[in-house]
Amino acid sequence: MTHLGIPAVPSPASRPVGGGVAFANDGHHFAADTGVDTASLAAAASAPLSVILQVTKRCNFDCSFCSEILQLPDPTLEQLDVMRRNLTGVARVFLSGGEPLMRRDFGEIVDMYHQDHILAVPTNATHGLQHARQIAGKIAFANVGLEGPRATTNRVRGDYDQVMHGVRALMDAGIPLSLSAVVYRSTLPALPFTCQIADVLDAGKVKLIMPLRKGNALDLDENEFISDQEAAETFSRLSELRTVHQWRPALRMTTWTPSNEGHMIVIEPNGVARAWPVYDAPDLWEPLGNVLQEPISAIWQRYRFKENHFAKYLGRSIRTAAHTPAARG
Ligand code: SF4
Repeated sequence: MTHLGIPAVPSPASRPVGGGVAFANDGHHFAADTGVDTASLAAAASAPLSVILQVTKRCNFDCSFCSEILQLPDPTLEQLDVMRRNLTGVARVFLSGGEPLMRRDFGEIVDMYHQDHILAVPTNATHGLQHARQIAGKIAFANVGLEGPRATTNRVRGDYDQVMHGVRALMDAGIPLSLSAVVYRSTLPALPFTCQIADVLDAGKVKLIMPLRKGNALDLDENEFISDQEAAETFSRLSELRTVHQWRPALRMTTWTPSNEGHMIVIEPNGVARAWPVYDAPDLWEPLGNVLQEPISAIWQRYRFKENHFAKYLGRSIRTAAHTPAARG
């Protein structure tokens, strides 16, 4: 039963999205049989598995790692409808920002997109109360950024209490949650608390991300960037704690290795699609085309990171520990 008194309908464990790939409803990620080769999947695909669509660049936070500090006007609903048509064939769309819930018409955007795509919403949750009821049942999950306890989140991101207020509103509407946390050297002690909070929230996954040297992160102390070896040790330590404490959320960690280069396709509010992060490109962006002017299938053809894209979203080029389902009783 949801907190609104709506009977919770048990969802199947996963939903197929074509090409032998399925979206795992519990861990909020894609998966394919281990026998299915990543290169073949990428070569056979005519569109990306997942894109990040920035419905605004505006945000009410100023996180110390934020890469999105340059502004562009929001796309209109008419422009978003053109983009929707041009995104035919994409399994999952992240309706992203900036902070997407700052758009008053965010519910209308969800209504426009949810029939055609699995929707996910990366958010700081602070405007959760305004939108939760309208978007419930239409998005697969909200991915809330949180760096663990109040003191750490307040220091590196924004107001913990505002975030948790919004998280409660999303939960009360029955919206599935995942958490993402940026990993600095100074936030390493907070990571077990992040996992514990995720477990209490019954989150699908905890996503750990290393900062990229762009935007606000250019001002970070060099000491805050951990090495790949330290990231591996951190993941291993958290995996052990996960077993000891029986945390259920999946754990996923992305580091910036060659096999993850360019794996994301980000669409800016003006329709410009870019591969991200491309390590030697200006601002880590590689322009691909514009989804206000052409279908994503045309952009996909000229995208040179297809295999990295599939490997990352299938969890094959990142560190992962699977979600543990709750016992049915
Ligand atoms: S990281 Fe996200 S929540 Fe933080 S300032 Fe940037 S857009 Fe806003």
